[in-house]
Amino acid sequence: AGSPRGGVLAGLDADQAEAAAAVDGPVVVLAGPGSGKTRMLTHRIAHLVRDHGLTPAECLAVTFTRRATEELAARLAALLPGAPVTVHSFHTLGLAILRAHAAEAGLAPGFRIAADPERAALLVAETGLSEREAAAMLRAISRSKRSGLADDAAAGAAGTALDAAMRARNLVDFDDLIRLPAALLAAEPGIAAAWRGRFRHIVADEFQDVDDAQYRLLLLLAGPEGRLCVIGDPNQAIYGFRGADAACFARFAADFPAARTFRLGRNYRSTGTIVAAAASLIGAPPEGATRPMGAPIALHVAADERAEAEFVAHTIEEMIGGHDLLAANALAGRQSGADRLGFADFAVLYRTDGQAAALRAAFDHAGIPFKKSAPARIADHAGVRAALAAVARQADGTLGDRLAAAFGSVREGRDDLDPATRAEAERWLTAIAASAPDEAAFGEAVALASEADFFDPRAARVALLTIHAAKGLEFPVVFVVGLDEGLLPFSFGGMPPEPDALAEERRLCYVALTRAQDRLVLTCAAERSVRGARRAVPPSRFLADLPPDVLVRPARGSRRRRPAVHQLDLF
Ligand code: ATP
Ligand code: MG
Repeated sequence: AGSPRGGVLAGLDADQAEAAAAVDGPVVVLAGPGSGKTRMLTHRIAHLVRDHGLTPAECLAVTFTRRATEELAARLAALLPGAPVTVHSFHTLGLAILRAHAAEAGLAPGFRIAADPERAALLVAETGLSEREAAAMLRAISRSKRSGLADDAAAGAAGTALDAAMRARNLVDFDDLIRLPAALLAAEPGIAAAWRGRFRHIVADEFQDVDDAQYRLLLLLAGPEGRLCVIGDPNQAIYGFRGADAACFARFAADFPAARTFRLGRNYRSTGTIVAAAASLIGAPPEGATRPMGAPIALHVAADERAEAEFVAHTIEEMIGGHDLLAANALAGRQSGADRLGFADFAVLYRTDGQAAALRAAFDHAGIPFKKSAPARIADHAGVRAALAAVARQADGTLGDRLAAAFGSVREGRDDLDPATRAEAERWLTAIAASAPDEAAFGEAVALASEADFFDPRAARVALLTIHAAKGLEFPVVFVVGLDEGLLPFSFGGMPPEPDALAEERRLCYVALTRAQDRLVLTCAAERSVRGARRAVPPSRFLADLPPDVLVRPARGSRRRRPAVHQLDLF
């Protein structure tokens, strides 16, 4: 579709260009996956700079993870070479404000971010709770800090005791990085005005995942006239369990009755087949697909998790070898003109990090290189913390050298990382060490790094990702594994999920399916090991909600009959 405008908006279709050009007053952009929301965001900022005279530094783009900020910064650098736009995650944004006004926020300069294990140890020391109780208490404290009841009392006596102990040591936690600057901007109009002067226009991506504290921080920065564009997709809200609330869109509309809403209706990412299947899962009318129908969606029922992982590894080998006709057909329709798949074209998505073990084993066996999201925040790993403590004790050498030596000397028992993740951690930390101006900045980068950050988007390896870590990404070929009851939808201890949790699981499944550009392969297992015992597991209820005509039907006489699940044995 052509654009009515030239210049920097020329790379957008008419709807995207209209949304990008609407730069006066508050704006909401609501649209489905692959509709070019993130693309619109970057062009909007380029438009503000080129056509409205803002400096790149006056434009602030906010998102959630370091990886997403790097991706945005790279896309913006391509549009606005040589003039860096301010790109922040919520946490680096909050940290920048706190660093500038530590005293006003009740902190001493040089305050440090405490990771969860350090907070847990403090809480145990302060209250005498068991480690298990402390972990549960930390979650409750975190929930109350992210919610509207963000005062210390809401977290109870334990929260108050922990906060006092943290302040006495000049420590802040992750939630404080949002909550304290929001409180500061609300209490100090002069400081708020200074920051509003600095950022004359704000764009927030993945807005469906903001929590109350993040929402307040954004609005305080945008000011009463609402120089803010919020972009997102309520159907992709997957952080309700962390206190995010997709009702933030309704709240925004109530806070800014004059806000204009734009919708983008065309999917540029996925084949028509994938677009239709994803819409069917959430019971929505399909977005307009710009691409034709493509390869059918395959479902493979494996005997168990090991066979499932071997199937994935084997299928990737077949596709890379060019033996898979369906993949070849799908690629023939691509604009890129690529006629061969490489490892980086594949992603394997799963609900829980534990599912990666079988995949790692199968990939190692097949010699398939992979990159993987981390099982927890990087700073929360015992192995990483032990290595960092060893770095602090060494005096000589560059930070990178000391890190490498420290990783070599971390004792086995203290390392909770499997060898592949550990190698990934070392690579990641050494790269961060090389780009950090000093050790304090390095420590901060590590403290802020999330699960998604281990994952190096440029490496020519297959991506093994939790669905949460795959948000916003796209790959030519996507495997979604573990489509059985208990995993997706996930259920704790075999308990049926509550309605709200089930709805969030469905949105997770939606996010997973919509990462695929050309080819989508779903797998489930007939049996899985659950705490050492093998159990039969029913296929995911979500499979029954995919349109039957997009799944390849089972060959006659296939081993198992499963109502509403159509099986393809690729081999
Ligand atoms: P998600 O909800 O998953 O984050 P999104 O709405 O942010 O998706 P983008 O990642 O911006 O979607 O775009 C999806 C893909 O479609 C990208 O590869 C992007 O470059 C491409 N695309 C978007 N708009 C256009 C367009 N007008 N012309 C060509 N390609 C486009
Ligand atoms: Mg996006």
